[in-house]
Amino acid sequence: MNSIRRLSSFIKMNKMPYDKFTFHFQNLQRAPRRRETWLCQILRMKEGEPTLQVFKNKGSKHAEHICLRENEAAIQGVDRYEITWYISWSPCDECAPQIIEFVKKHPNGKLNIFASRLYYCEEPDNLKSKTPEEQTEIKQKIQRCREGLGNLEGHGKICIKVMTLKEIQDCFHRFVEFKPWGKLEEDSHLYAEKLKEITKEERKKKIEKDKASVKKDKASTEKDKQTSAEKERRNRQRGTRA
Ligand SMILES: [Zn+2]
Repeated sequence: MNSIRRLSSFIKMNKMPYDKFTFHFQNLQRAPRRRETWLCQILRMKEGEPTLQVFKNKGSKHAEHICLRENEAAIQGVDRYEITWYISWSPCDECAPQIIEFVKKHPNGKLNIFASRLYYCEEPDNLKSKTPEEQTEIKQKIQRCREGLGNLEGHGKICIKVMTLKEIQDCFHRFVEFKPWGKLEEDSHLYAEKLKEITKEERKKKIEKDKASVKKDKASTEKDKQTSAEKERRNRQRGTRA
C-alpha cells in the first residue's frame, strides 16, 4: 500500500503544462512521438467538491492503472460516484479489462471516458516494412484493442466517446496550467509606467491646447469688438457730415 501511495503521489498532479496538453491531446490521425498517455480525471462524489487530478503513465504502469489504484482508496465506502476521464489515447487492451473490473467492483457509480485519439485502432502506414512476425503481432494487438473498446462501450456503467471541441475546451479550462513567460510581470510593469507617462503628457498637452484656444477665442472676440466699434464710429462720423 505504501509503495502504491509513493508511486501515485509522484506521478499525480493537479494541472498539466500547456505545451504538454497541446502536444498530447492533439487528435491527429497519425500521431508520432506521442508515447505518453495523459489522463485528466474529474471525480465527483455525492458530497463535496469534485476532485481534479492529472495522471500519466510511468514506466510500465499505464495512466489508467495508476488512476484506478488511486480511486480505489478515494471512493471506498461512498454512496455514489461519477468519474469523467479526458484521455489522450483510448485505453489499450490491457487497461480495458481493468477498467471494467473496477466498475464491476464499484457498481454505485459510472465512468465517462472521452478519448482524444484511438490507440491501435488501425494498421500503421509502415506495416509492410515490418517482418511477418511483427506484422502478425501488430494485427493481433489492433484486434485486441478494438475488442477492448467494444467491451468498454458495451458496459452499461461506462460511456466511451471521442473528445470533440467541447471536451477539448472543458479539459483545457479545467486542467491546463497557465505558465507566465519569462518577464511577464516585469514587462507589464514597464508598460503600465509607460502608459501612465503617456497619458500624463497627453493630458498636459490637451490642457495647454485648450488654454491656447481660449486665449485665441478671447483675442478674436476682442478684435471683433474693436472692428465693430470702429465701424460704428465711422458710421456716426458719416451721419454727422450728412
Ligand atoms: Zn493501457
